[in-house]
Amino acid sequence: MKYRDSIEKSAEYLGQVLLLMSKQATAMHPVSFAVWYEYVAGGNPGLKAAIDEHLRNGEILDEKLTFDLYNKHVAEINEQVAQQFSDGFQKVLAEMSSTAAQAGDQAGQYGNALEKWCTERSSSNPGANHDVASILGLTRNMQGSIVSLKGRLDESLNEIEQLRESVGKARQDALTDGLTGLTNRRGFDLELSACLKASDPLLCGPSLLMADIDHFKQINDSYGHVFGDKVICAVAQILKNNVKGKNKSARYGGEEFVVLLPDTSTDDARQLAEMIRTDFERARIRRSSDSWAPANFSVSLGVASYKAGELAADFVARADVALYASKNGGRNRVTVANG
Ligand code: GH3
Ligand code: MG
Ligand code: MG
Repeated sequence: MKYRDSIEKSAEYLGQVLLLMSKQATAMHPVSFAVWYEYVAGGNPGLKAAIDEHLRNGEILDEKLTFDLYNKHVAEINEQVAQQFSDGFQKVLAEMSSTAAQAGDQAGQYGNALEKWCTERSSSNPGANHDVASILGLTRNMQGSIVSLKGRLDESLNEIEQLRESVGKARQDALTDGLTGLTNRRGFDLELSACLKASDPLLCGPSLLMADIDHFKQINDSYGHVFGDKVICAVAQILKNNVKGKNKSARYGGEEFVVLLPDTSTDDARQLAEMIRTDFERARIRRSSDSWAPANFSVSLGVASYKAGELAADFVARADVALYASKNGGRNRVTVANG
């Protein structure tokens, strides 16, 4: 864990950070916050020296400079820390925005009261008007500043929300297979490792299915790659129909798929594999141009159930060995791995 400052200490830093950030030509986003937080907290000598150098030269930090400093001196923070950071920052900004709204309302009420008082007194004491009018002017200026501060904070909040959405979307895209919309291999690897970490040795599972389309090269060669893609999508659709809830399916590679079943016995996993096999065997996949369905195709599957303490790679390898036993046994079948 990179940031260990107490709430009190970090609140103290926050004040200094906001002051420093407000002097730069950079929007108040989490990247800029991270740079200045590290600067103020003092645990990052490289960053501090680089910023001090810029400040000595009378420079202010613009977006590019801020991002450069972030990438060079801060960016190794992990994704989880970044997420906590962004959540915390968003909360602080939202609170500041609400405080600014209250302060703006109070300044407005004060200005109204002053205006009323001024009008009431104007007939009896015209000489005092000038002073009161200048106080009123200052009050209105203060109210205007608070309103514009709130506007800026709200803009920053919007910006953070958009940043979070685009980061979330980019992450989702990076873990999704473009052709089928299933999770890709990288996404599956992450899911598998999270699943193994959370697995309870007293419960059954996790179980893993590995599936590979039979004679797929021949399908491509006979009917073309576009049709081949359609066959891949047909398997993906069967997986989407049959694999729900916390069970996860993924495209593991070209014409290979995996299904991860967190709390599932070997027997239930084998039954699901049979269902996928028969659904695909019965599917009529039609050529888009003329709806012609050339033939029926098949898929071979391997099933493995997790052995306590086993490495993820060994678990996958056992499902793969079972799959190749299905291939060697004549294809279009399910084989359960030895425990
Ligand atoms: P087996 O029954 O032993 O699995 O034989 P196979 O022909 O299915 O297996 P092989 O590994 O020989 O061929 C797989 C082919 O899948 C080769 C590759 O060109 C093709 N392929 C991989 N990814 C895609 C894809 O995204 N679309 C299409 N159309 N073909 C792909
Ligand atoms: Mg293959
Ligand atoms: Mg194949």
